[in-house]
Amino acid sequence: MNKKTISISGGGIAGLAAAIALKNIGIESVIFEASKQMLPLGAGLGLGINAMMAFRELGIYDNIVKAGRTLQSFTIFDQTGKQISKTSFNSTDSIGNFTIHRAKLHEVLLSGIDPSSVRTDKRIKDIEISDNAIKLLFEDGSSHLSDYLIAADGINSQIRQKLLPDVSPGYAGYTCWRAVVDCHSLNINETSETWGANGRFGIVPLAENSVYWFACVNAKAFDPVMSKYKTEDLYNRFKNYHAPIPEILRLTEDKDLIHNDISDIKPLNKFSFGRTVLIGDAAHATTPNMGQGACQAIEDAVVLGQCIVDNPDFEAAFKMFEERRLKRTKWITDTSRKIGRIAQLENPILISLRNALMRSVPSSVGERQLRELANTDFKISI
Ligand SMILES: Cc1cc2nc3c(=O)[nH]c(=O)nc-3n(C[C@H](O)[C@H](O)[C@H](O)COP(=O)(O)OP(=O)(O)OC[C@H]3O[C@@H](n4cnc5c(N)ncnc54)[C@H](O)[C@@H]3O)c2cc1C
Repeated sequence: MNKKTISISGGGIAGLAAAIALKNIGIESVIFEASKQMLPLGAGLGLGINAMMAFRELGIYDNIVKAGRTLQSFTIFDQTGKQISKTSFNSTDSIGNFTIHRAKLHEVLLSGIDPSSVRTDKRIKDIEISDNAIKLLFEDGSSHLSDYLIAADGINSQIRQKLLPDVSPGYAGYTCWRAVVDCHSLNINETSETWGANGRFGIVPLAENSVYWFACVNAKAFDPVMSKYKTEDLYNRFKNYHAPIPEILRLTEDKDLIHNDISDIKPLNKFSFGRTVLIGDAAHATTPNMGQGACQAIEDAVVLGQCIVDNPDFEAAFKMFEERRLKRTKWITDTSRKIGRIAQLENPILISLRNALMRSVPSSVGERQLRELANTDFKISI
């Protein structure tokens, strides 16, 4: 249908999902990935209803469902274990909210494309844009010419830095540890976050009795003390929190800890740049407080595919994509930042006020936000 050549920078969630969306409409693409191998890495991921609806459009819903777990509700507790709020996922959609190990999601996405279309160990260091092509220049000295580029190279995108040199990730003020642990002895079935003065602790059950947990603690950026934290330090920090938090930390091994400072990108007013379009974290990295970064990357892929079907001129399709995606992704980034500020309060008086206020808010407010998330930017065809 279309003889144009498309490169994708980055074989993460956004890049792989975009390649599937293109393949579904008969367009081949080549993914250039910096890592030496496509390894199954990472911890857990929450997938909102919008991501599950997007997987249905991409034709991989059944494989995703086999690899993860449906969630019933999300509860926020104080550090003693007293409920602050509870949102039921059942009332909004039969598809439901979901969790999956990031490595399994990667596997399913990879299985949706031709393996020969992924070139690993290809870190892009620069691009050259001319009137009729785009040239990718790799760190290994080689180059690749294509008609168009979908930039999906994550929050520190080299392509975005070239196109928008003044934009860089902004630190949110808290640092985060994550791990996946086998917790069958604890029988954990519900998703929760616990908001306390020593930090926030999240628990997300995955398939096969494993549990994904995360802990967010206020700190300065690149704090050398935090970067040396081991599970013992985290245990000491959270040992007075309600069960099963100390127990989960006791079951976690240091080798399984993943640590990152949490950052996002101030919402951009542009994703399309002629022959190039930014998607995923390269375009709209958000803090993880709504569990929506990957979900939005998957939505991007579906919307991009639909824009190309509606408008076979790629530059016009990229522009259309931008018009359809700017508002919603800005809403996610801004709302997620605000939730993070509220969740990370440390002052006991402010914490008491927050908790009392949140307990007085009806559960319909959380359910309204879920409905908003289900109101995707793509057209539903199934
Ligand atoms: C603590 C934490 C928890 C999270 N929890 C959730 C959650 O529950 N739900 C959710 O939806 N989202 C969550 N997210 C967000 C989610 O991880 C990201 O939004 C998602 O990974 C973005 O996918 P991406 O493909 O855009 O970027 P990435 O996953 O970062 O992929 C980018 C890819 O590009 C490659 N690359 C980078 N530079 C180059 C280059 N120069 N040349 C070639 N390749 C390159 C990288 O190696 C990588 O493979 C969380 C994030 C964090 C930090």
